[in-house]
Amino acid sequence: MVSPIVVQVVVDKPLVQGFDYLWDSRRLGGSPEIGQLVEVPFGRSSLVAMVIKVGAHSDFEMQKLKSISSLAPLPPLDPAALRLINFASQYYIHALGETIIPTIPQMLKKPENWEKIPQKLIAAEEKLKKKGQQEQSEGFIQESDLNVEQKQALEKLRRCNRKEFRAILLQGQTGSGKTAVFLNWLSEALDDASAQVLLLVPEINLTPQLERRVRAYFPEKKMVVLHSGVTEKERGIAWHEAITGKAQIILGTRLAALTPLPNLRAIVVDEEHDPSYKQQDGIRYSARDLAIWRAHDVKVPILLSSATPSLETWLAAKAGRYEHIRLDQRAQGAGLPRVHLINTRDPQNQYSPGDIGKPKGKSLITKTLANAISKNLEDKKQSLILINRRGYAPVLSCSACTWLSKCQQCSSYTVMHKAGALTKKSVLSCHHCGLAKPIPSHCPDCGNADLKTLGQGTQKIEDAIEEMWSGARVLRVDTDSSRSSKGAEDLFQEIHQGKVDIVVGTQMIAKGHDYQNIGLVGVLDADGRLFSQDFRAAERLFAQLVQVAGRAGRSRKEGQASGDIYIETQYPESAVFQYLLRHDVDGFLSHIANERQEAGLPPFSYQALVHAEAKNLDKAIQFLSALKVQLKSQGLISDGLRVYDPVPKAVMRVAGTERAQLLIESDSRKQLQKVLEAVDRGLRENSQGRISKTARVRWLIERDPVAI
Ligand SMILES: [Zn+2]
Ligand SMILES: [Zn+2]
Repeated sequence: MVSPIVVQVVVDKPLVQGFDYLWDSRRLGGSPEIGQLVEVPFGRSSLVAMVIKVGAHSDFEMQKLKSISSLAPLPPLDPAALRLINFASQYYIHALGETIIPTIPQMLKKPENWEKIPQKLIAAEEKLKKKGQQEQSEGFIQESDLNVEQKQALEKLRRCNRKEFRAILLQGQTGSGKTAVFLNWLSEALDDASAQVLLLVPEINLTPQLERRVRAYFPEKKMVVLHSGVTEKERGIAWHEAITGKAQIILGTRLAALTPLPNLRAIVVDEEHDPSYKQQDGIRYSARDLAIWRAHDVKVPILLSSATPSLETWLAAKAGRYEHIRLDQRAQGAGLPRVHLINTRDPQNQYSPGDIGKPKGKSLITKTLANAISKNLEDKKQSLILINRRGYAPVLSCSACTWLSKCQQCSSYTVMHKAGALTKKSVLSCHHCGLAKPIPSHCPDCGNADLKTLGQGTQKIEDAIEEMWSGARVLRVDTDSSRSSKGAEDLFQEIHQGKVDIVVGTQMIAKGHDYQNIGLVGVLDADGRLFSQDFRAAERLFAQLVQVAGRAGRSRKEGQASGDIYIETQYPESAVFQYLLRHDVDGFLSHIANERQEAGLPPFSYQALVHAEAKNLDKAIQFLSALKVQLKSQGLISDGLRVYDPVPKAVMRVAGTERAQLLIESDSRKQLQKVLEAVDRGLRENSQGRISKTARVRWLIERDPVAI
């Protein structure tokens, strides 16, 4: 008698255990390999599962085991990809199945389509091949055209052994030509016909630009792009080309970080400081951190590029753990933008009655900034106005009573959006739960018809600018405008083609775009983030201001003056602004490093959050308090490990669910890991999946949170 084949699989559920099934080799052939996708009967339905073990024994009665239903016609994940996902699962305290299955594109997870997959892939690849030939490429800079500093950086990069792990920080001013350096560096890794490289960018809006450049550098190489904007079909094909080694260049956002790449030779993480690399739902991983682990695991170099490195990376470079390569000049020879701080409390900067050009109503822009914009318009240059809030106004209020437009489902205000932005009519929309309601004509509390907006968002500023400069072409760029009318890429093209004079936008306009004719950048309302409860807020604000300032004065024409950035603030003396004034990135980083060290905050300690969600806040808090008591009684709270009191989240109620969190902090990564594993075990004993059986509290452990 032939001994039975027992296959252990994991499924996409918050369950730590694997499940045993029998393999019917007469029906399914041979035996499956670890890392292959199968379909299994599960409960009353069936699920797609990943094979993690193949053997002859089971801890369960053989007779009771069910059989695998079918096998996907896909290659198994390679051992390195499996190691990476295993690590992610352990480090981020997330079950293996719910870590691994979501990384596989939807298209490949439909058992009813498995038979057709091979033909489908061939047909789709043919189609894409034809399309690919028409795609644009631009931005190629020959190695001989690099400036001296870029050449030196490239030399240093090439000295790093290509077959060894090395993390390299490429720190360079905005406009210093970091991309040209790393693309030239990658060409060496790509010499080998089968080699694959992974290129990560923080957000989808930055991919088209980099895509064109990569194509210009490597026209012969097969590149695939992975981000949330590509269709499921394209994603399926891209993933398949990556795992089979057909694609050499994998360009994508954080979701590309877990793509299986059997011939990986180098990784680049562009704008490595960007918080978008942190996944904020499901498994809350940092794509940058996983990329570093991955490079280490498969012994390849990884380059982290930024003008404003994260404190973690910068300290590692300072300490010599990472190679530190710098580019301190702008590649096109233009100087850095001049920084101007406009003290909004200083009457000199504000309009007074009778001023020429004073707007009719209350001015939303200081006189100083308005004059600079006028001058910039005269100079035929574009202006970029940054305000970090979309919508018309963050809240609507009643002038007769205390009514404010609050969301009924969340502990937040609803934002007023003008007609045409989100829907045809003006609405009050909640940015947390998405609920949108028509604007009331009268105060719901007292019936007063005089409702006023408080504060301002992109739409209000757009209106104000259109009124002040009636002849200027104004464009608003935020997630509303990029969703409703044209895609973001079209909006950026309008800026590139000089079809607009003044751009008003959120952080979407600040990052990485290589605009050629921006003479002025204005920043409104930056102060809110100076006093945030989140200790990383200042670091983020600084990085964003450097980024947006860097959009100015990037012209490739000889002799062009550098641009200007004007920041409106009530607190010009703040460290963030003072270091920015001097373009002193290193000074700022060493300033916040001291602050963090004194306070024992990351990266001088390691943190994790336990999130709890329930119908009411008390339940969530009680659940976390009980957890804290339990940790104490188990003797897990010792020197160097701090468990804080549970607190409500900054936005406590979202969509009717109330939320709290418990912060755990440790001086040692290992100790934190041990405690989190114990927390996970303890919670799972009394939970179904991640919902506690008695209190019905939904919980989640998050490692290295980026927002507290
Ligand atoms: Zn009222
Ligand atoms: Zn809401």
